Amino acid sequence: MEPVAKSRRIEQFEQACRTRGLPVTTQRRTVLEMILEREDHPTADQVYEQVRTRLPSLSRTSVYRILDTLVRLGIIAKICHPGAATRFDPKIRQHHHLICMHCEKILDIEDQRLDNITRPNVRGSGFTIHDYHIHFRGLCADCASPPRKGGDAASVKAKQVRKKAARISKRTNKKRRSKP
Ligand SMILES: [Zn+2]
Ligand SMILES: [Zn+2]
Repeated sequence: MEPVAKSRRIEQFEQACRTRGLPVTTQRRTVLEMILEREDHPTADQVYEQVRTRLPSLSRTSVYRILDTLVRLGIIAKICHPGAATRFDPKIRQHHHLICMHCEKILDIEDQRLDNITRPNVRGSGFTIHDYHIHFRGLCADCASPPRKGGDAASVKAKQVRKKAARISKRTNKKRRSKP
């Protein structure tokens, strides 16, 4: 994140703490700074590993708690998709993601057309939609590149994932077609 945007976000964090009577601790500030420096949507454990290099005495539980506080304050966002570890995102305005099915890398994507889709009518289900973001799943450039001669383990694995993805999408299409 650009230094100006970063310091603006830190100010926003301090303001939010003051408003809610929460102390601006070095721990909270450090965790936030580390997230703002990353664009790879880290998991809580990855944040913990990094924070430990600056604050060795901070426990894993405290890092988890601080992350939750930052999300509650609206300073960072939590990205959830079922079956995967929660990832944290410094970008809080609406955007979407490209998710690599092989290495689980998450890339940001911004496209106004995706911000303006018609929301489905879910009134009958009693569900209230607050917001949405779209995940496009596939393979990142590293994982999609064709295997070198002899094929190292990673690229062989990527090939398997590609095959599996093709199988799944075939199955899903079939299912969709068979719906009345
Ligand atoms: Zn990948
Ligand atoms: Zn993102």
